[in-house]
Amino acid sequence: MTARATTLINDPSPEHSAFRATCREFAEREIAPLVDEAERSGVYPRQLRQRAAAAGLTGLSLPEACGGAGAGPTFLVIAIEELSRVCAGLATGLTGGLGEHLLCTVATGEQRDRFLGPTLAGEASGAFAMSEPDAGSDVLNMKGRAVRLPDGRWQITAQKMYITGAPFADYLFVAVYTAPERRGKGVSLFLVPTDTSGIEMHHLDKLGHRSMETAAVFIDSVLPADALLGEEGAGMRYIGETLEVGRVTHAARSLGVARAAYEYAEAHAHQRVVFGQTINGYQAIQFKLARMLITLRSAALHVMETARALEAGAHVMVEACMAKVVASEAAVGVATDAMQIMGGLGYMMETPVQRYLRDALLYPVSEGTTEIQLRTIARQTGIAEV
Ligand SMILES: Cc1cc2nc3c(=O)[nH]c(=O)nc-3n(C[C@H](O)[C@H](O)[C@H](O)COP(=O)(O)OP(=O)(O)OC[C@H]3O[C@@H](n4cnc5c(N)ncnc54)[C@H](O)[C@@H]3O)c2cc1C
Repeated sequence: MTARATTLINDPSPEHSAFRATCREFAEREIAPLVDEAERSGVYPRQLRQRAAAAGLTGLSLPEACGGAGAGPTFLVIAIEELSRVCAGLATGLTGGLGEHLLCTVATGEQRDRFLGPTLAGEASGAFAMSEPDAGSDVLNMKGRAVRLPDGRWQITAQKMYITGAPFADYLFVAVYTAPERRGKGVSLFLVPTDTSGIEMHHLDKLGHRSMETAAVFIDSVLPADALLGEEGAGMRYIGETLEVGRVTHAARSLGVARAAYEYAEAHAHQRVVFGQTINGYQAIQFKLARMLITLRSAALHVMETARALEAGAHVMVEACMAKVVASEAAVGVATDAMQIMGGLGYMMETPVQRYLRDALLYPVSEGTTEIQLRTIARQTGIAEV
């Protein structure tokens, strides 16, 4: 069954629309053929990163001086939405993220050459290791430590949890305390090649995003002095600087999955005959699809409006949190409604609607849970007195 692509809002310019068409074509040509095997095997096809690099998608939003395309957030959200519409698990990480941004902005020239160049070429990849078993939302509760040895090297011990892309990563960005007594000002970031002695990975099996590999990572390693990324103690500041873009791009991913679910269900409703007529003839189904469309458009407006403000240099933490909540809830709601419209077929593995719902269920949890977004909104708008 061929689902037709839906237009939710007008793109900001003809260049954005042309870029959307290019991303859609890439996703359908390069990602779609890999989905079934990667979702079944749980093995990420690394060659996809090289193809994304050839298409200019890796490092999309990095400045040209760092080897990126210099595209702003409005282009980035379009790319993520379009790639995730085909497969969110495979799309994750193709367009770059916090790690690449830090390699561009705070890494030394040597670190940049060693890690960023191969990453942008699609030949290497990094994974961002911050969460721990007792430190997800409460990230400052992390137990991971780095201690400077008398010879200047670093002894790192940490247990990191749920790390996206770690099993096939060439290096990790590891956040640990170098001065725990300083709390938010005592966390530092380290660049850790995954072939370093003392690193162990355990694959984690999960409900959705099955084509993206995830691991628990145990680190008990000695690293050279130059493994430190940026300034000692500045880790949380660096992470904080990219939270807004992280949340709005996460919202774009949710939007891509929600749109895929809607489009598939809408196409099905035009074909499925029950009681002598296609089910799109029933008002109950029409109203459900109409509400799904309203939900999608609301999420699309949140995402693009926030991306535009970010591009204009505005401070958009509240709006980014709102976009993340609206879009992640849209993904879960629309994918659930899509399952209902599909009837029994939706529950079968032969259609992708079950995948959209399994993937969507991640979004209210990852990149800061919904409750953490609401907490930030309450604090920043004065609802909560802090
Ligand atoms: C598939 C997947 C991939 C991930 N990838 C990465 C990665 O690449 N790198 C990385 O570092 N981490 C990653 N994470 C971790 C993710 O960021 C955390 O799971 C998330 O931040 C939630 O932390 P937690 O799991 O410890 O839940 P908890 O913090 O234990 O939260 C449990 C519940 O309590 C709620 N809660 C917590 N605090 C409050 C509060 N103050 N008020 C109200 N409710 C509250 C939460 O919202 C949640 O509902 C990933 C997670 C998953 C599932």
